[in-house]
Amino acid sequence: MTIRQLSDHAINQIAAGEVIERPASVVKELVENALDAGAARICVATATGGKTLIRVDDDGCGIPADQLALAVERHCTSKLSEDDLFDIRSLGFRGEALPSIGAIARLAMTSRHASDAHAWAIRVEGGRKDGPSPASHAGGTQVEVRDLFFATPARLKFLKSDRAEGAAVTDVVRRLALANPSVRFELSGSDRQATTFAAASGERALEARIAQVMGTDFVENARPVDAVREGVRLHGLAGLPTFHKANSLSQFFFVNGRPVRDKLLMAALRGAYADVLARDRHPVTVLFLELDPRQVDVNVHPAKADVRFRDAQLVRGLIVGALRQVFAEAGHLASSHTARSAMASFSTGFAAGPSAGLRPASGGTYGYQRSATSPAPASTDWRASPFRPLDDGEADDGGAPVISGFGEATQAGFETLDMPSADARAHAHASEATEERQSRPLGAARAQVHATYIISQTEDGLVIVDQHAAHERLVYERLKAALAERGVARQGLLIPEIVELPQEDVARLAERAEELEAVGLVLEPFGPGAIAVRETPAMLGQIDIRGLVTDLADDLAEWDSSTRLRERLDHVAATMACHGSVRAGRRLRPEEMDALLREMEATPNSGQCNHGRPTWISLKLSDIERLFGRK
Ligand code: ADP
Ligand code: MG
Repeated sequence: MTIRQLSDHAINQIAAGEVIERPASVVKELVENALDAGAARICVATATGGKTLIRVDDDGCGIPADQLALAVERHCTSKLSEDDLFDIRSLGFRGEALPSIGAIARLAMTSRHASDAHAWAIRVEGGRKDGPSPASHAGGTQVEVRDLFFATPARLKFLKSDRAEGAAVTDVVRRLALANPSVRFELSGSDRQATTFAAASGERALEARIAQVMGTDFVENARPVDAVREGVRLHGLAGLPTFHKANSLSQFFFVNGRPVRDKLLMAALRGAYADVLARDRHPVTVLFLELDPRQVDVNVHPAKADVRFRDAQLVRGLIVGALRQVFAEAGHLASSHTARSAMASFSTGFAAGPSAGLRPASGGTYGYQRSATSPAPASTDWRASPFRPLDDGEADDGGAPVISGFGEATQAGFETLDMPSADARAHAHASEATEERQSRPLGAARAQVHATYIISQTEDGLVIVDQHAAHERLVYERLKAALAERGVARQGLLIPEIVELPQEDVARLAERAEELEAVGLVLEPFGPGAIAVRETPAMLGQIDIRGLVTDLADDLAEWDSSTRLRERLDHVAATMACHGSVRAGRRLRPEEMDALLREMEATPNSGQCNHGRPTWISLKLSDIERLFGRK
């Protein structure tokens, strides 16, 4: 074997492999070039998800005639003046995008610089150059890329459906639009509905752009962040912990205006939300870091999606500190989850700690047992907690006293997983005396407080059950069993429910319609921006269809398109269970409460809900006595 230098053609193809992974990467490079050229208006058009056509038009500075041929040469850039890789102020600097695209697709670039009498065009197809030749073009630059990967057909195999590739293009444009509010973006094509983000100006430009891209829903459920530490500034909007998603795709980070998906930043975000968000939920954020370009290395990754900070701890500390501050200021707005962490501190007042005593729910030990290890001071948390003293004067006549009202009927009309049938319930209830029920691990239901918690009396203490968390687990376990065994019975909706969703979500759901049908959910696209749901899994009863469909779309976005839903049944079941369970806030009758307790005792894993939170906690009488200083 002799060593020889690779041809330019081969080198470009290799570079292209790193820079251009899919149509969305081409769009990213071309739009970044337009932004670097100072464009005020950028139009992106695609066909077949960008596989056969991508066209990007800008009104930027254009390329002078004598430099057009150079622009498509490898390692030619106008952006790195002093060869200083550590002071990068533009989006591009590697001079790789255009030659890479020209090596694997049909590239045509037409541009007119102010100093030229007319425009010029150049073509590169599979690495072969043609031009420049005179052309007519009003101003700015137009780049057209046709037949991506025609020169390297092996890469075509790795592309996803037109819909999925088109959605990835949308995502790229959304990201860049967020970072450049003063630029007008238009996205159109035969494969999509046209979207325009009008140029925003003034003090609130960023907020206006975020509302355009993310929806007003997000802006209303977010708080502004603005903090500076040692010359590093963090600003943007952070979603309230209640405004969460099933995946992390709605976390947008920008470093000096460059969209990044950086592990360090993602981890910092997780840290900031850790106390206030369920483990498997993800916040929605649009955050910008601005710092001296010398403090960050963007030349880590060919597509520049990762960055490296000189002082990573500083950046992490800034993010975690600033966001926690925002949540603290948001007070009660920061959601019920915040209340939960307050409760946790109350619990740890007399428990060994949140993880202590978490035992597997089997063989007579049910879930979480908290036991007192030290006398607790009468903490303010305890006084502020929503629990009122129980009325001890009720007769033990077999009917548990209920603080809340009785009359609310369960949903009827179909067999739901809700509760055992009313007859069976009444029977079980009457036939089992309070004392007997008290001897059960989860005791006899005595009261429901705040329409959310069941308080039951056990032989040696009391148990507090979070009814939603508990029921969710029960529904989940049953649903899993049903899905695995016999498939899911469906119930038709009298009127299909129309759920409006972003186009990409509609596309994702539509692609999986057949699989979703197998798990009991029948839906179809209803125009480009909505889904019509016709049937739902019967065992879920009346559910929040909108919430379910949105969460499923989030799930799908996160999974690879080759993942079959059936392989992710547990996850689908968990998402469905969450939407099909007794909500906190529903009043339960005494027999319903007891039925729930009995079912929890009989169901595996019922000590934790699907989000990993405990479904119940117990207080031993001796703990209570200690609390009151009786011991
Ligand atoms: P880079 O952006 O890293 O410099 P590219 O291959 O993307 O490398 O582009 C090469 C050069 O072509 C750029 O440095 C710039 O001078 C010029 N160029 C590319 N696109 C445009 C555009 N839309 N408007 C003006 N100049 C452009
Ligand atoms: Mg570039």
